[in-house]
Amino acid sequence: MRQKGVPTNPLSSSFAIKCCIRICSLMGGVQIHCRFFRDGFLSDSLLMTTLMDLYSRCKRSVEAYKLFDEIPQRDTVSWNVLISCCIRNRRTRDALGLFDSMKNEVNDCKPDNVTCLLLLQACANLGALEFGEGVHMYIEENGYGDVINLCNSLISMYSRCGNLEKAYMVFKGMRKKNVVSWSTMISGFAMNGCGREAIEAFGKMQRVGVKPDDQIFTGVLSACSHLRLVDEGMVFFDRMSKEFGIVPNIHHYGCMVDLFGRAGLLDQAYRLIMTMQVKPDATIWRTLLGACRIHGHATLGECVVGHLIELKAQEAGDYVLLSNIYSSVGKCEKIMAMRKFMKDNSIQTTPGCSTIELNGVVHEFIMDDESHPQKDEIYEMLNDINKQLKIAGYVAEISFELHNLREEEKGYVLAYHSEKLAMAYGVLATPPGKTIRVANNLRICVDCHNFAKFLSGVYNREVVIRDRNRFHHFREGRCSCNDYWQ
Ligand SMILES: [Zn+2]
Ligand SMILES: [Zn+2]
Repeated sequence: MRQKGVPTNPLSSSFAIKCCIRICSLMGGVQIHCRFFRDGFLSDSLLMTTLMDLYSRCKRSVEAYKLFDEIPQRDTVSWNVLISCCIRNRRTRDALGLFDSMKNEVNDCKPDNVTCLLLLQACANLGALEFGEGVHMYIEENGYGDVINLCNSLISMYSRCGNLEKAYMVFKGMRKKNVVSWSTMISGFAMNGCGREAIEAFGKMQRVGVKPDDQIFTGVLSACSHLRLVDEGMVFFDRMSKEFGIVPNIHHYGCMVDLFGRAGLLDQAYRLIMTMQVKPDATIWRTLLGACRIHGHATLGECVVGHLIELKAQEAGDYVLLSNIYSSVGKCEKIMAMRKFMKDNSIQTTPGCSTIELNGVVHEFIMDDESHPQKDEIYEMLNDINKQLKIAGYVAEISFELHNLREEEKGYVLAYHSEKLAMAYGVLATPPGKTIRVANNLRICVDCHNFAKFLSGVYNREVVIRDRNRFHHFREGRCSCNDYWQ
């Protein structure tokens, strides 16, 4: 166009940028951006917003944020691009903050249904239930309540925040449901330990004539695995390909390995991995490794770690898990050797981090955290809780698990995992009887799990902990995972 001397305009330029976005061509975008200077398009708000989107998607968030400030007339779309930029760059909390700024804007910048979708996604990632409820209210108030996508996102947000009742309420209230609604609800049930309900929902869905997709089977199979329904799970797995023509993917295989693993059928799980039609990934090996830990199977555990090393996917957590397996079968020399190996090879563990949301503010804790303004009260509360739980029979397990090699250095003095700090803060800062919801980035350790169980009984509180893999709903001294997790 330019060679032929046809002048470009904002419209053609915006299409050119969209092409750059498609193929993630940062350089192409930068060249077009340069031409804007020459052609004087910098005052075109829509064009600037598209450009911002490009920088955001090409991982140039700082350029994207700068552009946002320069856009002469920001509209809802520019704000939405900014929010998705924050989410993409893991600045999830900032994304939530933008919701209020948007509502306070004088111009035509009110949050729309796209904004709500983005925010619900952010809430689900953070486990920020109260904030999500606020977005839900906004959706109702602004008449978006019938948008199917939004309802599906609400179901997903509520289930990922561990509030299944509300997820189901939204689902039930939907006048029209699509296959995504069903699959989100079924996964929600499965994720929160309600396997029965997930399987029932599958039956209902078929009765109303909705054809299941591959995601629905992931939900149903994980429900079977949760309930240890080996035979039923195998039947579903079989029907999936034979009756519905769905080729099993890595998630389906993962569910089956989990199912066999829970039931203690480790050889069957291993055989399935070795014969499956897709290449096994690190997650599937890790599922088996978790089962090896539960059933104290050291030889297979070593073999699995071998596979992870072969995939170059081994993480500190895997070695930690293996050393836990050794510990459970009493192989102390092996534990020592493994920990020495980790130290010598400077294998870093991921630091655990827990979040708890109170009145719309997300509080973050790391192990032995000292940074919280109320830290003295929190530690005092934690000591108090420890005392109360001990009276009820709680015994701290200090040697079994470690989240972090630093614990080693502390010479087995009980470290305060971030989950405990978050729970203590929950007890401290919320009225009696209120559910405590904590999200954590790692797999919860045996000790914290025990602690939460006792806490739920002694303090008569529901505790919901979302760890890296699943939800734990603690109620009256018991957990929804039936003490099986990896
Ligand atoms: Zn712990
Ligand atoms: Zn649990």
